[in-house]
Amino acid sequence: MTKYEKLEKELLNEKKSSWIKHDGEVRKKAFRFSEEYRNFLSAVKTERENVREVVKMAEKRGFLPLSQLGKKGHRKFYDVNQEKNLVLIVLGEKSVKDGVNLVASHVDVPHIDLKMNPLYEDEEYCLVKTHYYGGIKKYHWVNLPLALHGIIVKKDGTRINIVWGEKEEEGVLTFPDVLPHLSRKIQGDKKLLSGFSGEDLNMLCGSIPVDDEKVKNKIKIHVLEILHEKYGITEADFISAELQLVPAGSARWVGFDKGLIGAFGHDDRICGYTSSMAIFDVEDPEYTAVNFLADKEEIGSEGRSGMQSWFILRVLSEIMDYQEKGFNDLMLRKAMERSNVLSSDVGAGINPNFKSVHDPLNAPRLGYGIVLTKYTGSGGKGGSNDADAEFMAKVRRIWDDNNVDWQIGTLGKVDEGGGGTVAKFLAEYNMNVVDAGPALLSMHSPFELASVMDIYTCYEAYKTFFEKMN
Ligand code: MN
Ligand code: MN
Repeated sequence: MTKYEKLEKELLNEKKSSWIKHDGEVRKKAFRFSEEYRNFLSAVKTERENVREVVKMAEKRGFLPLSQLGKKGHRKFYDVNQEKNLVLIVLGEKSVKDGVNLVASHVDVPHIDLKMNPLYEDEEYCLVKTHYYGGIKKYHWVNLPLALHGIIVKKDGTRINIVWGEKEEEGVLTFPDVLPHLSRKIQGDKKLLSGFSGEDLNMLCGSIPVDDEKVKNKIKIHVLEILHEKYGITEADFISAELQLVPAGSARWVGFDKGLIGAFGHDDRICGYTSSMAIFDVEDPEYTAVNFLADKEEIGSEGRSGMQSWFILRVLSEIMDYQEKGFNDLMLRKAMERSNVLSSDVGAGINPNFKSVHDPLNAPRLGYGIVLTKYTGSGGKGGSNDADAEFMAKVRRIWDDNNVDWQIGTLGKVDEGGGGTVAKFLAEYNMNVVDAGPALLSMHSPFELASVMDIYTCYEAYKTFFEKMN
């Protein structure tokens, strides 16, 4: 090989798509894995549903609640925070004081919440006031069949789980848009993103009045009657509720070749699901493996179930308190500094319809493997974690050594926009942190797209990280 051939071989743009690199067997595995993931996405649409489902999957594989720590020889545990945030742990040969290998993703997804006093009547329809959650484009959500998922807690503590609008026989809910014939002035002159205000998103949920002259709000009362019969609730119960509007229906294969999966919630269930599946398959790692599913990432990782909560510290302290005599705070802080983290979140793949927002030399492509991102943020990279070159090198090495398909990626052109992840909050503990997850198209829309190959690659990448990072 000439010296030029050697250099050419290492050119970044010579990376091949996973579809080209892998034969029938790998493809078959990827499709089988993705089919299960697709079913998961069809069934799981809120953070609570996500956590509940993963706990079931974990228990089936022998994971025990962390309260049973100390059970002889057992190494696989889980703990749940507020039903919306989950941690899975496989204890390593080394103590947690030597550091852990952590993959952290999030299970909340941009969606639309109901207000506390939601129901009203207008023009003989019953409507629902809403307040969106996370970075949505409001125009995506009108004229879609929507389902209602969530929980209502009554004053006496009774908990009512709600899933409405997924079954064929249940009426879906929807935001009715104005017809094009009459929208010239009220929408046509507006900029795309201001076409709808938050207060315009009033959801239609009823149109049949009760037949009683004395009743004032006949349609709203009819809706409340139905809800009372089905769930035993009254209007005041909406105050102590977490109810989310999400797209109704299933995740779907996309394309004549079915190379993609289109669904609500890839961001970030794709990382949560693949990293949980990866930790399920980890046996006796050298360092303790930790899989963290955070809530509230889409609004800044706030709140007690978000990445900024003390939950992760309590969990690691609890394990170290069991493992180490004389456990103290300094030990915890040193353990954090010795730990390695993949902040596993999605990236923006080059979209053929909107190429201009990407720098093609640094943009990820669907089907080219997991995306390693040194820094996120916006402008001069404000709001970012900036991974150390040393840690980047380690991650490159273990993935190359274990034949994991990976690529680099930044979130769009400089000054085009930007975004953040949970990375910077874990970096505050002085952990080694880098962002790594698959690229999507149509991110933050009700129908996000991911590559079947990347879904499987993420599982392999996270498993390799749990097993080989040191
Ligand atoms: Mn995300
Ligand atoms: Mn997001």
